[in-house]
Amino acid sequence: MSAAGRSLIGALLVMLALAASVSASGLAPNELGRLMILEYHKIDYPEERWTRTPENFRRDLETLYARGYRLVNLSAVLDGRINLPAGTTPVVLTFDDSSPGQFRYLVQNGTPVIDPKSGVGVLEAFITERPDFGRAGTFYVLPGASKPNRLFDQPEHEGRKLRFLVEQGYEVGNHTLWHANLGKYPESTVRDQIAEAQVWIQRHVPNYKPRSIALPHGVYPKDVTWALAGSAKGSAYKHDAILMVAGGAAPSPFARTFDSVRLPRIQAVERDLGYWLSYFEKNPGERYVSDGDAATITVPAAWRDRLRKDLPKNVRIIER
Ligand SMILES: [Zn+2]
Repeated sequence: MSAAGRSLIGALLVMLALAASVSASGLAPNELGRLMILEYHKIDYPEERWTRTPENFRRDLETLYARGYRLVNLSAVLDGRINLPAGTTPVVLTFDDSSPGQFRYLVQNGTPVIDPKSGVGVLEAFITERPDFGRAGTFYVLPGASKPNRLFDQPEHEGRKLRFLVEQGYEVGNHTLWHANLGKYPESTVRDQIAEAQVWIQRHVPNYKPRSIALPHGVYPKDVTWALAGSAKGSAYKHDAILMVAGGAAPSPFARTFDSVRLPRIQAVERDLGYWLSYFEKNPGERYVSDGDAATITVPAAWRDRLRKDLPKNVRIIER
């Protein structure tokens, strides 16, 4: 073959490689980009500061799906095991306070069915229509709160609900026993609040250990280690992450700036979610975009020094 022929083939191969690195969504992989951990409170009527209506929650899911976001559990982020198709972006849903509208059963002909107007009902219906959206989300429940936030406020169904969540692949997180402001209490109370919440969860789901805690009011205890691990009330707890109530998009779990003890969240209200959705439309290069292979981490070459030093041994770094 002539030199010209060889260089033509070489150029074609380069073009093919470039095309392969850009996915169907048109976004090049960037596993050092940022991702959204969304924070929902009430799913109910009317829409207000801490309430998203079921219709607006549904619209959030539709928008996220259409823009290439896919659900992953917080555990997948913490473990750096984000198994998504190339070109898609992970998003984590979190639900705080176990308010009644997040998960409600209706009894029809003697059989409990999930209320389609409750958060879990909306989510399950959407996932049935769009199975490739994923099924994931973490519920930071309050097992010992007064009404109406005690485990979604249906005592006769609370065990059924927690078991449903865990069996379907959702996560249950610690949010303390009754939403204690952890900054106000001594060590023993902080530990009791956390351990007892876990004891209550385990009454319904034996041996279940929440992997993360969302801080009530976003307030840290005087010593952060009290919230991370310990034992009280005959139960040992260990959390791999502490979630704040604000702070914007989270760093990639592969980035140096990723700090599992201070994980920022985005409040899923019209203004804040809208801000971040349009932020990533305007700045697609800032967004975490999967390369489709959980065994590799694809990063822009210029960002290589943003990688954390303690990456898992078995992953391969690809620069683009
Ligand atoms: Zn809360």
